[in-house]
Order: sequence, then structure tokens, then C-alpha cells
Amino acid sequence: MPLPKLSDAQIAWVIQQVAAYIGEQRQIYIGRAVPLDSVQKGALLPFSPGSALDSARVVVHSGERIGNPPFYGDLIRMWLAGNSLPDFARMAAITFVDTIVSHEPFTNELLFHELVHVVQYQKLGLADFAGKYVRGFLDGDSYEAIPLEKNAYQLAARFAAAPMNLFSVEAEVQAWIDAGRF
Ligand SMILES: [Zn+2]
Repeated sequence: MPLPKLSDAQIAWVIQQVAAYIGEQRQIYIGRAVPLDSVQKGALLPFSPGSALDSARVVVHSGERIGNPPFYGDLIRMWLAGNSLPDFARMAAITFVDTIVSHEPFTNELLFHELVHVVQYQKLGLADFAGKYVRGFLDGDSYEAIPLEKNAYQLAARFAAAPMNLFSVEAEVQAWIDAGRF
């Protein structure tokens, strides 16, 4: 069933809420997060030699789940389509700017996916990332259709399939930006 259309003002409100949520979650978790260890850095550095890897922080948040954004209640009432909103508690990990919060131990593929998001945040900035994430979700009616996620899944899968075939995450993300794919 297609989702009811939101007005431009409602979309702007949602983007603002998402951006605020990301900033708040980053503040909550950054104090507990640590830099990647040398084994993790060694695996990813050939693919991402820029500053993203150094700035990234990780925390494994086991035992409890990340809460869904508080504005979900309003959104669901407004939109009447709560079942299709991304469920943060069921995601393997979420990246808040430079802070990667995982519900499970990191595999290199999971870490790679989240590192792509760190690079996306670096290049787009928080506000633009939030805008493209929300619009991507609304345009595709699903989490899987969000271009920022497709980009991260594709690059992580490419890495996992052939970890010796190097490519640049920064260059790939930039190519998607230049082509207007987000
Ligand atoms: Zn993702």
C-alpha cells in the first residue's frame, strides 16, 4: 500500500527531527565509544585512507537496544503507516555522524558498511545526510530503497566478496554525490 503523501512542511519537520535525533544520539554514545582497534583499522585502511577512519568511534551496545526516535509517536499518528518505519532496535548497527553504535560484535563487513556512512556524513554534513536519508526513505517507501543505505550495502558487499581488490570508499561516495544518486 503506498504511503500517504506528506506535505513539504511535514517533510521539513521530519528532516529536522531526524537531524536532532542523530545529534542527540551521538552525544549519548560518544563518551562510551572508542577508536577502532589496530586489526579493524588494518582491514579498512586500504579502502579508506582519509580522516573518516581516524575520527570513527565504536561502541557495542549489548543488553539493551537503541530506542526509536521520540518523534516516531507523532509520525505514526500523522502518517498511519508505522509498520514501515525503520526499526532502529532491530538494526545491526547505526552510525551517528562519527559514532558507530552496534547491537552485536563487529564483523569487518558490518564495520565497513558503517564506515561508508561516516564518509557520507563527512562529505554531506549532518543536515544534508538527514535530508537525503528521509527523502530517500519517502521516495522508495522502504529502508532498503534509501540510496545512502544502498551505497553502504553495495560497497560493504564488494569488500566482503573480494577483500584484496582495493577501491576507495571516499571516491565511490563522491561519485554517487556527483551523479546525484543520493
Ligand atoms: Zn546503513
